[in-house]
Amino acid sequence: MKVLFVCLGNICRSPTAEGVFRRALEQAGLADKVEIDSCGVGSWHVGKAPDARAQQAALLRGIDLSDLCARQLTEQDFNDFDYVLGMDQDNLRAMRDLKPANSQAHVGLFLDFAGTPGAEVPDPYYGGDEGFENVLNMIEAASEGLIQQLKVGAEVVTLNLQANVDLTHANTLRLPCQATHFAAPATLSELRAVLAHAHHQNWPVTLLGGGSNVLLPDKLSGVAVRPALNQWWLTRRQGSVYVHVGAGVNWHSLVMATAELGLWGIENLALIPGSCGAAPVQNIGAYGVELADTLQAVQVMELATGRSYWLSAQECAFGYRDSIFKGSLNGRVVITQLVLRLSRVPAPQLDYGDLAARLSHTPTPWEVAEAVCAIRREKLPDPEVLANAGSYFKNPLIKDAQAAQLLREYPAMPHFPLKDGHTKLAAGWLIDQCGLKGMRDGAFGVHQHQALVLVHFGGGDRQGLMNTASYIAAQVETRFGVRLESEPRLINA
Ligand SMILES: Cc1cc2nc3c(=O)[nH]c(=O)nc-3n(C[C@H](O)[C@H](O)[C@H](O)COP(=O)(O)OP(=O)(O)OC[C@H]3O[C@@H](n4cnc5c(N)ncnc54)[C@H](O)[C@@H]3O)c2cc1C
Repeated sequence: MKVLFVCLGNICRSPTAEGVFRRALEQAGLADKVEIDSCGVGSWHVGKAPDARAQQAALLRGIDLSDLCARQLTEQDFNDFDYVLGMDQDNLRAMRDLKPANSQAHVGLFLDFAGTPGAEVPDPYYGGDEGFENVLNMIEAASEGLIQQLKVGAEVVTLNLQANVDLTHANTLRLPCQATHFAAPATLSELRAVLAHAHHQNWPVTLLGGGSNVLLPDKLSGVAVRPALNQWWLTRRQGSVYVHVGAGVNWHSLVMATAELGLWGIENLALIPGSCGAAPVQNIGAYGVELADTLQAVQVMELATGRSYWLSAQECAFGYRDSIFKGSLNGRVVITQLVLRLSRVPAPQLDYGDLAARLSHTPTPWEVAEAVCAIRREKLPDPEVLANAGSYFKNPLIKDAQAAQLLREYPAMPHFPLKDGHTKLAAGWLIDQCGLKGMRDGAFGVHQHQALVLVHFGGGDRQGLMNTASYIAAQVETRFGVRLESEPRLINA
């Protein structure tokens, strides 16, 4: 594997990238597996050592750049190197102009590997010392991301496909489901290989995380893929801490681990079941916080081609329990990694529910997460004890005018005006008002304390659950004129 770093003159950013990345490779035990070099798109400094300020800044971090010597990028580099990584968009344009048509090299921006697609390492040449520090921080973050990718590339690829797998215990509703094939790829290469195999066999691919938000069919053809990308790591940049997390990591474990480190941002989302990979799909939310509040970028892999790329938070088009992964990218990509931005600066969000009442002093993130867990345990049935998928219905959004009309008739109706002409209602309250809390309909029912949660007592299947849900939704619509939508995803409908 060969990596080439490119900047304008090869005396500041790209030699810094070469030095930082060389050390990162040594630390990862990959020094003998990856060759690296750096160069500039221009020829001004050819033959010169790196800028003295770049050398000084790197030396303070234990990296010696003194033996490096500037050279210019050539066409041949695109055939010699697997990765040709520029520092800014101007470098990238010049690189693309020079790249021969037959080159297989990955040509892109280095900061794409820091989970900040499209971002540039600014040229520190005309600035002060701070600029060189900034460059080092950015390059260190991108180096860690690139190391993770290369580690994956260096592994032996195995398919590990299992046939006829019972997924009844792989979904929290315990709906009986028999999958024709199942795979839990632990690396990007394994995932790519499984997808290529499925494509070749013309198998449909079903993505699965913790199975806490899916309605599985009795028989699932093709292959069910549950990514087991289980690493996460931290990087620091400009006062913020970035969490890079693989799709297979359990969401609640991540929340508790980061809260224990004193990091703020996702503590209110404790005890939401499932994987990190599924979290962006419905933009998980609870206690006044949504994933979108901290999410910076999402790495995805195309099911059809195995191509990996990054989406910014904006490109994910997050809304209330919604994202691009339910829209135009539905069934087209698998989420492989997230980047979240957390902070050490205290930022408790205690306005929702009775969180504030439970925390008398200024809490730590760990204390907030613990309080959230305590409230959730009191309110929601544990799927391990009584099968359920959490809230079965989304809280409906209705026009302000309709909400005003309903409020005249039901002044006690909980309602949350949004700023876009819509009002959010509490689906649980609507169901409760229809006298359905605690009702039982064969194998399914409404939880006795939480009207939003449908539970499975055992012996039922997906059709049975959907019949019960339709009955409940019809009752609510008849009484309030409000249509309820189900939250769990209907798989292979
Ligand atoms: C008791 C309980 C409480 C809950 N509380 C909340 C709550 O407070 N707030 C909230 O928002 N949700 C809540 N949920 C719903 C659920 O936990 C979340 O939606 C969670 O993100 C689902 O994760 P999962 O890994 O189980 O996904 P799964 O159920 O396995 O999959 C959900 C969807 O994501 C897709 N998917 C899974 N992995 C990937 C991937 N890597 N790439 C692309 N698509 C993928 C699946 O195909 C499916 O469409 C609750 C569920 C339960 C059972």
